[in-house]
Amino acid sequence: MKVFKFGGASVNSPDAVRNMAAIVQKYYGSPLVVVVSAMGKTTNRLEQLVPGVRPTAEHPALLEQLHSYHMGIIQDLFPDPKNPVYDDFERLFDQLARQASQPASTYNFDYDQTVCFGELMSTSIISHYLTLQGMPNQWADVRHIIRTDDHYREGRVDFDCTREQACRLIDPACPLYVVQGFIAGTADGHTTTLGREGSDYSAAILSYCLEAESMTIWKDVPGFLNADPKFFPNTVKIEQIPYNEAIELAYYGASVIHPKTVKPIQNKHISLHIKSFLQPDQEGSVIGPYRTIRPLTPLYIVKSHQVLLSVLPKDFSFIAEDNLQTIFAALAELNIRANLMQNSALSFSLCIDDNELLLNQLRERLAPQFRLRYNRNLQLITIRYYTQQIIDQMVAGRPILVQQRSRTTAQIVVGTTE
Ligand code: ASP
Ligand code: MG
Repeated sequence: MKVFKFGGASVNSPDAVRNMAAIVQKYYGSPLVVVVSAMGKTTNRLEQLVPGVRPTAEHPALLEQLHSYHMGIIQDLFPDPKNPVYDDFERLFDQLARQASQPASTYNFDYDQTVCFGELMSTSIISHYLTLQGMPNQWADVRHIIRTDDHYREGRVDFDCTREQACRLIDPACPLYVVQGFIAGTADGHTTTLGREGSDYSAAILSYCLEAESMTIWKDVPGFLNADPKFFPNTVKIEQIPYNEAIELAYYGASVIHPKTVKPIQNKHISLHIKSFLQPDQEGSVIGPYRTIRPLTPLYIVKSHQVLLSVLPKDFSFIAEDNLQTIFAALAELNIRANLMQNSALSFSLCIDDNELLLNQLRERLAPQFRLRYNRNLQLITIRYYTQQIIDQMVAGRPILVQQRSRTTAQIVVGTTE
């Protein structure tokens, strides 16, 4: 069994869907599970339809936008108006409209019950299209396969139950399954999601549970690059990446894979391929049981919109364990991730993503005991396999606020040039 994941960009137009189907065609015949995201930017649009987010007067226009986008793709792919895709789509769309008109309850719950329609619609369309192209397949509702707890918007997976359900519902003799990424279900039948961009993780969960021979993420880049091509002119493709290296890179902020994706794959020694859906015959990158990356080259991860926060005890006590405990409890409660930390006797500094709302909440929580200082508009640069020359080039004369180095990794917080 192989598991493929196609993201929103790989199915965002009629031609993209045709291209995706041509890739599936090459592998059709031996068991394949295809995990698909919502088409294009559908999830962003659905977020606006979560009850309570926008005035209901705006709903008809938002719904119309989503309807005509999907209908445009369907009409292009299915010239026969009697194709069952039309009825299936309208049925799903009615359910979405009904969900959007529900009275608001809690935001996270409403969010999951609403945004799931992106993946339900995309997989329905794609399943019908693959059938039309001579690839009979089974559409499955992944909410009956991937089980999570009721932590809405960030469901935590129950792997035992998921494995049991996957083995019961996925017949290895069936050549092709089409399932939704990103969404899952609770024991009492509610929809959950796995966090934005979570479809990679869905594919990894299914690969783990079905003991897949390999998993492939089809992307709009040729593989795992040593830097983000949007900002670096000369990138190098990394051909082989050890599992732990991939986990570290995702942790530092490499956006090519979702951070939770690698662990389930590693636990079952499954190889994870990253390939280009634009050049499907080219070798991509493989994450697997390697000792080092190949080729060995510096890797760059740049995070912008960073804030350096210094937390100082008001009573002039030292930053000791009890103070740190209070700070970490506040961070955990607010779900704020420290991208880098440093402490001295008198202050504790941490670099976090800039988010006005969360920063205010953090300040409120810490105000009784601490003074907070901010430094905004910073960049956090992480370089694996660095040299001093590379650091100097990257810093390019900007002020360095914090710097940390291990044998392999340098992390530097820099300000903007004056
Ligand atoms: N459709 C979801 C999102 O846009 C999940 C994914 O694409 O992985 O976040
Ligand atoms: Mg996506």
